[in-house]
Amino acid sequence: MSEQAKDEVYYECVRCGTVVTSSELSKLLEIKCICGYRILRKKRPQVVKVIKAV
Ligand SMILES: [Zn+2]
Repeated sequence: MSEQAKDEVYYECVRCGTVVTSSELSKLLEIKCICGYRILRKKRPQVVKVIKAV
């Protein structure tokens, strides 16, 4: 379970604020939050830049 998607999209439930990733949504048959609410808004992922000092 170490799947890393660079362009993963994050969705935030407008009701409960739960953040769901696109990969999690793809497991579901329909786009909705775990609370049952179906209105999610896109959220910018917190991108962690890894810079290697050479
Ligand atoms: Zn929700």
